Amino acid sequence: MRVLVTGGSGLVGMAIQHVVKEERGGYEGEEWIFLSSKDANLMSMKETRDVFRKHQPTHVIHLAAMVGGLFKNLKCNLDFWRNNIHINDNVLQAAHEVGVVKVVSCLSTCIFPDKTTYPINETMIHNGPPHESNFGYAYAKRMLDVHNRAYFEQHGHCYTAVIPTNVFGPHDNYSIEDGHVVPGLIHKTYIAKKEGKPLVVWGSGTPKRQFIYSLDLARLFLWVLREYPEVDPIILSVGEEDEVSIKEAADTVVQALDFKALKETCEWFVANYDTARK
Ligand code: NDP
Repeated sequence: MRVLVTGGSGLVGMAIQHVVKEERGGYEGEEWIFLSSKDANLMSMKETRDVFRKHQPTHVIHLAAMVGGLFKNLKCNLDFWRNNIHINDNVLQAAHEVGVVKVVSCLSTCIFPDKTTYPINETMIHNGPPHESNFGYAYAKRMLDVHNRAYFEQHGHCYTAVIPTNVFGPHDNYSIEDGHVVPGLIHKTYIAKKEGKPLVVWGSGTPKRQFIYSLDLARLFLWVLREYPEVDPIILSVGEEDEVSIKEAADTVVQALDFKALKETCEWFVANYDTARK
């Protein structure tokens, strides 16, 4: 079993590397290869074919994607659509051409229909338009499921996908503008602490989200690769009872970073109320 991981240098890819290392390089008989964009630009069919021919994988974990938070999605729906459609089409076709028997690709819970009923499940991916903020990313990801079903129907391949919720962990993109909720909060809190300024979090803080730690997700990925036999995608998330509000997430980050600037600022304001600039 020779496993090629696309996107092996990203948040999820590095977590899988870590877990495979913990297992002393994977189970017996497994060989692992982790790719970054430096090994091949997967938007190019030629480079994708070349890297697949070079490594001759039997199994693939396909993580490579253009990924980003709300603001980057709002600005770049066209890029998210085109880049991800090209990457996914190239990777699955190259896998097919070199005889890969199993591919596990990556969707996301944020691609589900905007207007939906809860709890959501895997059968509901295509039941209506996604949220308009990230329609480029969402439709490109949904097409992976179409790819998988078509490769099964025409060639009998077990190309499948997992649907993780928001991931956090080491090696994330900590950009405040372009990153996801938790890394963005960590970066903002760190700066506020360093500069002694108040921490400002956008929004009401009440919306609830599910988060999964990258190392937990990595272990589930390996289970799907080794044990899960279906083409239908599978949600990898936490239970609904473990959902947390954005405010709770921010409070947890503040605690973890031991950030007291906000508290000190409030205390100063109360103590100096008469003379403070108001
Ligand atoms: P990252 O942004 O951390 O990593 C992206 C990876 O893709 C990097 O290894 C990057 O390589 C590679 N990549 C990007 N563009 C190309 C390209 N043109 N050619 C080759 N490689 C490329 O992403 P994550 O680890 O967060 O995401 C992994 C997968 O999980 C993605 O498919 C994403 O959609 C999905 N997902 C992520 C969630 C999250 O919260 N982060 C939630 C749900 C799903 P390089 O390092 O060289 O740039």
